[in-house]
Amino acid sequence: MHPRLTECLEGLTALLFPPVCLHCGKPVQDESPLRSLCKACSLNLHRVRPPACSCCGHPFYGPDEREFYCEHCVGLKPVFGEGRTLVLFHGPARSLMHELKYHRGLHVLRDLGRVACEDPSLADWARGGVLVPVPMHPRKRRERGYNQTELIAEELLRCGVGLRLEKLLVRRADGKSQTAFDRMARLGNLKNAFAPLPGASITPDHHYILLDDVFTTGSTLNRCAQVLREAGASRVDVLSFGHG
Ligand SMILES: [Zn+2]
Ligand SMILES: [Zn+2]
Repeated sequence: MHPRLTECLEGLTALLFPPVCLHCGKPVQDESPLRSLCKACSLNLHRVRPPACSCCGHPFYGPDEREFYCEHCVGLKPVFGEGRTLVLFHGPARSLMHELKYHRGLHVLRDLGRVACEDPSLADWARGGVLVPVPMHPRKRRERGYNQTELIAEELLRCGVGLRLEKLLVRRADGKSQTAFDRMARLGNLKNAFAPLPGASITPDHHYILLDDVFTTGSTLNRCAQVLREAGASRVDVLSFGHG
């Protein structure tokens, strides 16, 4: 469809069905910086600014040290270089991600991209990098119909900082439910859960940036980083949209 026509249709839809804030349900005014949240909730998104944990990107409040691991990350032993997070995953951020993951709310992607592209420190850090989205379990992907992390990666390409997207990893289907495993078995299961995409090529001096929607324990990202390293990547960092 012609872009002008798409724009007209979007304008008409907005006129007939004024958007309401995904978080608080109030109308989204024209002056709101985001389309899925009202102005108050947009401003309430907890955007992460330094200083932050070098592993997961969670902010900390204290003297700015060069390398600092928060209490959640001390035991992780990350094999990636640096981890960054764009927002803290509560309040409006949680509502945005919930809409994307569980209500097929692809319309929030533009807002997620805007939040990312507006991050002042991201441009310099990520410039020229290769985004590698964390793959989803094949069964889950089939059920949902899409991998939201891949879609977020596509939005980040619009930031104009020369990012590229390469889906270099696959998640193996094991057919077993994770809940049926005890903790050790589950860790072992995760250990072999990821593999390089057959035929994928790694260029050692590229800056690979593993992308996930939400950082929780970091173990998934760490496994993915390990696979990229074993495949020859020398610089692997991590970016999460939200910190759980
Ligand atoms: Zn609101
Ligand atoms: Zn941390």
